[in-house]
Amino acid sequence: MNRIIFILCLSVNFLIAQQTEFVDFKHVESVLLFNQIKVDSTVFNSYQVKFDILKHTDSVYLDAQNMKFMNVALNKTPVKFKNDGNKLIIYHSFKANSTHTLNFLFFASPKKAMYFIGWDNESQNQLWTQGQGKYTSNWLPSIDDMNDKIEFDLTIVAPKGYQVVSNGSMVSKRETPTYDLWQFDMQNPMASYLVALVIGKYEKKVEHAKCGIPLEMYYYPEDSLKFEPTYRYSKQMFDFLEEEIGVPYPWQNYKQVPVKDFLYAGMENTSVTIFADSFVIDEIAFIDKNYVNVNAHELAHQWFGDLVTETSGTHHWLQEGFATYYALLAERDIFGDNYYHWRLYDYAQELLAQDQAGQSTALLNPKSSSTTFYKKGAWVLHILREKVGDKAFKLAVKNYLEKHAFKNVETTDFISEVEKASGLDLKSFVADWLESKSFLYEDCINALKSSSDEISKMLQLDEQLMFSSHSINSSINSYWEQAESSELKRRLFLKDETRLVHDSIFKKALNTNDIKIRQAIALTKSEISEALKTDYESLLEDDSYVTIEAALYNLWKNFPQERQKYLNKTKGVQGFKDKNVRILWLTLALITEDYNAEFKTQYFEELTYYTSPVFGFEVRLNAFQYLNQIKACHDACQVNLEQATKHHNWRFSKFAKELVKQYQ
Ligand SMILES: [Zn+2]
Repeated sequence: MNRIIFILCLSVNFLIAQQTEFVDFKHVESVLLFNQIKVDSTVFNSYQVKFDILKHTDSVYLDAQNMKFMNVALNKTPVKFKNDGNKLIIYHSFKANSTHTLNFLFFASPKKAMYFIGWDNESQNQLWTQGQGKYTSNWLPSIDDMNDKIEFDLTIVAPKGYQVVSNGSMVSKRETPTYDLWQFDMQNPMASYLVALVIGKYEKKVEHAKCGIPLEMYYYPEDSLKFEPTYRYSKQMFDFLEEEIGVPYPWQNYKQVPVKDFLYAGMENTSVTIFADSFVIDEIAFIDKNYVNVNAHELAHQWFGDLVTETSGTHHWLQEGFATYYALLAERDIFGDNYYHWRLYDYAQELLAQDQAGQSTALLNPKSSSTTFYKKGAWVLHILREKVGDKAFKLAVKNYLEKHAFKNVETTDFISEVEKASGLDLKSFVADWLESKSFLYEDCINALKSSSDEISKMLQLDEQLMFSSHSINSSINSYWEQAESSELKRRLFLKDETRLVHDSIFKKALNTNDIKIRQAIALTKSEISEALKTDYESLLEDDSYVTIEAALYNLWKNFPQERQKYLNKTKGVQGFKDKNVRILWLTLALITEDYNAEFKTQYFEELTYYTSPVFGFEVRLNAFQYLNQIKACHDACQVNLEQATKHHNWRFSKFAKELVKQYQ
């Protein structure tokens, strides 16, 4: 008996896994009603899907999590169906080479993949989706399997006064007195996890790429001054990537939308990248935390991931490795060769650390870490390009994308194009770099040494420091004198040994006016001598929120008699979107005796307010941490902490769950 059940399960799973052999879903049109949005509201929607039957089958299904269905009709006739909570299964004797249309109404109340932000508090209201990882089928009947690509055309009924952004072109907007109807049109198919929707209050600016593609950049109405630093280089990177990749951008337009409390840095939904609003930054923040790399990475995915999509996780590097590599190329176009090489150097250090911890995996292992998929993937492409040359590499990429456009790909599809374009046999390359779990650190470092003088110098210094521990001070000093680039100097100060360096070098460094070198000192030099005090104090005036935060704390700690002065100097600084400087300032102001005693209650209330869901989780996390440190997370803070344990961002909820234990 057991055996029969086992075999039965096996055959059902086999059939489920193979649906793409029997049916090809072509085109979905769905009207989604959001005219009245409430948190956790059930959404009632209409749906039509057209599909081709490839082989005879008795049923087809759509993935649909926890939905209800009505008026299910196949080719306008009621049809037998089953809703098992995960799938809508349609029973019919489908003949090979036939075409069908399925219509129904569905009710969804998504618990994940679609997020309603702020509709239950005083902060701004947003709705956004995240399909990868958690699946679109939580809010829209679709296909969880990436291998069936569908043209999705959504029509959204939204409250008045909101912007709606979805895949493809917005072809019409009909207004009624109570709601607006936004109709979107895609021209090409995509995997279901790339379907996206954002509803929120936004302004937008549109630029046009060299090729004429509209680049729509969205921002919150209050952030008009942050628009330029946030989206800096967007058009340049778009034009660069289109030229570098050699294949025209594959979609009708390209939109970028920031959202609150996002799960990742960014997500490359087809023609609409959604990104964390912590990347919406001002002029000063640009220096330390800008959107450039994420911007380029998600854009590169429009080709690598969206136009050609992995068949399975085994080939995940074809998406993440490529996006990481092409983002680096776009950054090299902006920031120069040295920047590119240092980033590769940092990736190599991260991969080496992973290797030394015994956690290296093969690039083709679907269970690999992000470090492997992203950074080893980028390194593999860098090394491969050096091996076959620019011309063959670019030709191979072009042929690979054109041949598999709007389809799915595996690693051999790419490698075989490189072999064709270069005439080389890449068997041993594949074995060493893709199949082997060891990380070839020496090869990477040798490649960098031959292309970057700066990195060669840095490596020489590392060797000297290792063998001449008695003269660290003079080694660093002489390197400091020799180093021409500020990046090399900056890195000298980030070394552990720096604490042994004589103050005179710090003094010299603080007088360079190089913001990054000065920042390295703020970050590493936590004990400040009287001799260095005046120079160190000037860090509080730097145009860097990282520097100000570190310098304020270090000065406050080292010179108790001057605390009032330091606090007065940094009073109005907010810092990044996560309010790093303001939250530190409030904490120090609270615990500094005699400082503005009449405002202490106000400071405490402000700091506690930052723990509430009105703010993004980045702000809340900082506020919880500081309040906890000064043992001042009281009633309102604890209520907010309890609420944070249920937050949809798992990193934040995990943090809150750990912290809440201390109050139980
Ligand atoms: Zn990515």
